[in-house]
Amino acid sequence: TAVTTVLILAAATACGGGGTSSSSAHGGKGSTVGIAMPTKTSLRWIVDGQAMVKQFGAKGYKTDLRYANNDIDTQVSQIHKMIAQGDKLLIISAIDGEALGEVLLEARDAGVKVIAYDRLILASNDVSYYASFDNFKVGQLQAEYIVDKLGLKNGKGPFNIELFAGSPDDNNTQYFYNGSMSILQKYIDKKQLVIGSGQKRITQVNTLRWDPGIAQARMKDILATSYGSQHVDAVLSPYDGITRGIIAALKADGYGTPAKPLPVITGQDAEAASVKLILSGEQSETVYKDNRKLARVAVQMGDAILTGGKPEINDTKQYDNGNKIVPAYLLPPVSVDKTNYKRELIDTGYLTPADLK
Ligand code: BGC
Repeated sequence: TAVTTVLILAAATACGGGGTSSSSAHGGKGSTVGIAMPTKTSLRWIVDGQAMVKQFGAKGYKTDLRYANNDIDTQVSQIHKMIAQGDKLLIISAIDGEALGEVLLEARDAGVKVIAYDRLILASNDVSYYASFDNFKVGQLQAEYIVDKLGLKNGKGPFNIELFAGSPDDNNTQYFYNGSMSILQKYIDKKQLVIGSGQKRITQVNTLRWDPGIAQARMKDILATSYGSQHVDAVLSPYDGITRGIIAALKADGYGTPAKPLPVITGQDAEAASVKLILSGEQSETVYKDNRKLARVAVQMGDAILTGGKPEINDTKQYDNGNKIVPAYLLPPVSVDKTNYKRELIDTGYLTPADLK
C-alpha cells in the first residue's frame, strides 16, 4: 500500500542519512552481491563460487550465487533477476564475453557496479574492474613445458604436434593461445615442430564451450586423417577437461604403450581428475591458478566498491574490452607437474591426498 511504501522510503532515507551515508550510497555492508558463474561441469567454478560466498559472508555481505549451465540465455536472465531484486554489485564470469552488453545497461541504470571475474566482459562500458590471472602467461607456461620436455632448445626434432584452443566466445582463449604461440612459433618456423594436421588458425583449433567431447572428436579425426604410421609427440591443450578428451581419443587409437607412448600434453586448472592423470603419467602438466586467491581479489574489489573505497589494481594496459581498457588485478599462474604437485597443490591445501585417490 501507499502507506507502507512511504514508511519504507522514510526508513531508507533515515538509514542513508545516519552515519553510514557514504557506504549506503554505494550499497554498504549488508547488501547483496550477485555472483554469476558459467557452469558446474568444470570443477574450478564450484571452488570459485564457494570461496566468494564464504569470503563475502565474512565481510558482512549477503550473496546470490548462480550457475548457468553454460547457456547464454540462462546467464542473461540470472543477471537480469539479480538487478531486479536489488543486488548492489555483480561479479560475473561470462559464458559469451560479448553477450552481456544489453543486460549490463540495466545494471548501469540501477546503479549496480560490475566486476568481470576471470573472463573479461567485452563490448560494454559497464564493467568497472577485472579480476583474473595473467592469461597470456598461462599459455606461455604450457608452451614452455612442451619446449623443455621435447628438448627443443637443444635443437632436437622434428616432432609432431597438435594444437587445441578454448572456446571462441571466451576472451581468455586468445590470450592463452597467443601466449603459447609466442613461444612455439619459432620452433614451427624452424621445422622442429610440425603440425601434422596443418591446423593452426585459432578458428580451426578452438573448442566451443571448452567441451571435452568436441576436443575428443577432433583429436580422433586428426589421428584418422593425418597420422597413419606417424606419431603425435606433443599436444598443446588449454584446459584439463579438454586434455582428458584428447587423451581418451589417443588411447582409443592405441597410444599409452611403450611402443606408442602418449605425447607430452598440457592442461589448466589442476582439476583432481587430471592431477591423477599426471601422477599416472598420462597427462604431463597443468597450469594451477589458485582461485581462492582470485576470489580474495574479487572480494577486495567488491568490498571497496560497496563501501565507497578504491579497489586495488595492478594492470591498466592489457585488457581492452573493445569499449575501454578495464582496470585489472592479475594473479600469477603456476606450472605444475609430477615434480612439484605436492608443494603447489597439497601443501597449499588446494587438493587433499584423498582427492587424488
Ligand atoms: C578459465 C580457465 C578454464 C576455462 C574453462 C577459462 O576462461 O580461465 O581456467 O579452464 O575457462 O572453464
